Amino acid sequence: MRVVVPPFHRFSTLFVSNVYLLDGGQGDRWLIDTGHWTERVQLVAELRRTNLQPSDLTGVLLTHRHSDHAGNAGYLQREFGVKIYAHRSDAEVLEGTAPRAQMGGKGHLLERALCAIENRWPSQVKIERALDAGDAIASLEVHHVPGHTEGSVFYRHANTGCLMTGDTLLTARPPLTIIQDIVKPYDAYSLDLKQAHASLDAFHAAGWAYENVLAGHGKPLVGNARDRVLKAWSE
Ligand SMILES: [Zn+2]
Repeated sequence: MRVVVPPFHRFSTLFVSNVYLLDGGQGDRWLIDTGHWTERVQLVAELRRTNLQPSDLTGVLLTHRHSDHAGNAGYLQREFGVKIYAHRSDAEVLEGTAPRAQMGGKGHLLERALCAIENRWPSQVKIERALDAGDAIASLEVHHVPGHTEGSVFYRHANTGCLMTGDTLLTARPPLTIIQDIVKPYDAYSLDLKQAHASLDAFHAAGWAYENVLAGHGKPLVGNARDRVLKAWSE
């Protein structure tokens, strides 16, 4: 585990996707995403390394519903009573009350295979409270940025300028996350690519400030992140 910017820690032994711990002390300990179920052992070990049990968590905030991010949410809820939060539109899919759109068909072979896995073994979990744009939870603002999924969100921590971006703004192109890059949503994994790009544009046009990007895949981008993101995309 590594401290990115206090109070945010990154669980560095998970490789499929990123899990962050917001550790604001007792009663204010949150996971942002939960990783894929294949990395459950590492997830629990990372918590234990900080002398935490899963039951010490105040809750889990999902950036979106995909199983490489929500993959351990059901386990944490079932075994330890952890409360799970997600945007309303993804919450409905996770709870099975809205239809689940199929992914894939547009990427290369490996990307299509990953989409097939998602379609075959999607995450399902009961949501404690559905979140909406403009909500505040755990000292974070909820920004709805649909497109990658219906209910993708950014969580912005105004005090530290940290922006948790899920898969809507990436710092690497999965599954090869060793190569750092600033990546917009792209065809292979996006439900609605145009909408995802429009969400990003709208977020930036509204002038929301951020210094650091803590993305769903890739290493954190620490310092001057907003300028670096906009410069990368203007080239
Ligand atoms: Zn995703």
